[in-house]
Amino acid sequence: MTATNPHTGEKLRDYPTLNAEQTQAAIAQAHETFTTYRRTTFAERAGWMNRAAELLEERVESLAQLATNEMGKTLEASRQEVLKCAKVCRYYAEHAQRFLAPQPAETGAERAEVRYLPLGVILAVMPWNFPFWQVFRFAAPTLMAGNTALLKHASNVPGCALAIEEIFRDAGVPQGAFQTLMVGSRDVEAVLRDERVKAVSLTGSEGAGRAVSSTAGDVLKPALMELGGSDPFIVMPSADLDEAVQSAVTSRTINNGQSCIAAKRFIVHRDVYEPFRDRFVAAMRELRLGDPMDPQTDIGPLATAQIRDELHEQVQDAVSKGAELLLGGELPAGGSGYHYPATVLGGLTPDMNVWFEETFGPVASLYVVDDIEQAITLANATRFGLSSSAWTNDPAEQERFIEGLEAGATFINSMSVSDPRLPFGGVKASGFGRELGREGILEFVNTKAVSVG
Ligand code: NAP
Repeated sequence: MTATNPHTGEKLRDYPTLNAEQTQAAIAQAHETFTTYRRTTFAERAGWMNRAAELLEERVESLAQLATNEMGKTLEASRQEVLKCAKVCRYYAEHAQRFLAPQPAETGAERAEVRYLPLGVILAVMPWNFPFWQVFRFAAPTLMAGNTALLKHASNVPGCALAIEEIFRDAGVPQGAFQTLMVGSRDVEAVLRDERVKAVSLTGSEGAGRAVSSTAGDVLKPALMELGGSDPFIVMPSADLDEAVQSAVTSRTINNGQSCIAAKRFIVHRDVYEPFRDRFVAAMRELRLGDPMDPQTDIGPLATAQIRDELHEQVQDAVSKGAELLLGGELPAGGSGYHYPATVLGGLTPDMNVWFEETFGPVASLYVVDDIEQAITLANATRFGLSSSAWTNDPAEQERFIEGLEAGATFINSMSVSDPRLPFGGVKASGFGRELGREGILEFVNTKAVSVG
């Protein structure tokens, strides 16, 4: 596995991968550790999880540099991500025991209750875009519930993958309870088919989701799928336009535009379309493209040349079919990194790829609508359904958006974010199952009915 710096295009380091025998040994160790790890107490697990949080905070600078070097997000964004991981560790350290406390039931039996027991070895297949956060939001609830975990991370962030394993090891988590498997995507199927592996959690693209959930279906194992998104950001006439514009820019360009819950389609009521468009384009124009290590940079490079090229093809396809190019859309001259400028498209039609595909980079699509029903119809006219953001100060419209938008979350008058206290996940092709919140820890447990007498 090779790590490449997306700002310079230069190779950082090669990492050895595991052969079949080593992979088998890791699965065996995860399985063996489970037999004892499942009997550890919540207090012991919380101690390790809280120590992991401290280590994340102590190591924030080196971890942030690692992420920025391997996948190109700005250094400040990497720091924020590492600190957010500490929060999710502490959140589950504090709440797991309560979330999984036996629930008494009245059945007429002497004693009846619902218990939440760990499942065993859980496989995680994770993406590079939030190389720490995606893993910790899986690992914290999974380990707190008494499962053991195997991480197959994205191939372009091998340094992050090993750093995560090191954090859990240094935090005192028993050997074998959390292991990084340095394997490619080809090897995932065999690991998932191994009978010692009990379930899989995947965060990634629709294609990876289809492949892995098909295998999980074939071997009848639970699967949690966190897939792509093409989230709508809807602006109605009663919205505070200054706040909406500011959030729209942040939401579209966060993580260099490579976030699953980034706002990607901006659906604006005709009465405020022109002022929104003009302010949005002006604010996007101000963003500085450059070296993600430079504190002045707003948008670093995209993670790989392929992502940059595919994004540019989407823009060119739209422009060739008559879209208005309101900003950007041209590859920066010179330089060897995978940079792409903040880009805004208007006048879109359903024959253009950006109409129905996810745009994974700083490219915004603007749409104009005449009323709320048209806004909701357009917002839902996508395969995806991850999150949604709607801007209106009219309570009736707020309610209509909450019940009408086909998405795993609706944020009113704020941008979509993930928060340990709220469940996170999608509907439609954005996946199934939930991470975070109480729902997140219930994904990988055996919800056991108990009846005595
Ligand atoms: P990706 O190419 O699907 O890769 C994600 C992970 O899946 C990587 O570890 C990858 O391994 C593995 N993988 C890919 N194809 C596979 C296959 N056929 N079988 C088994 N494993 C496979 O996605 P990405 O480019 O890293 O991430 C971007 C996508 O993730 C976007 O669509 C984004 O919206 C989505 N995402 C969703 C969420 C969410 O919470 N819903 C969060 C973040 C990102 P290799 O690297 O070795 O190929």
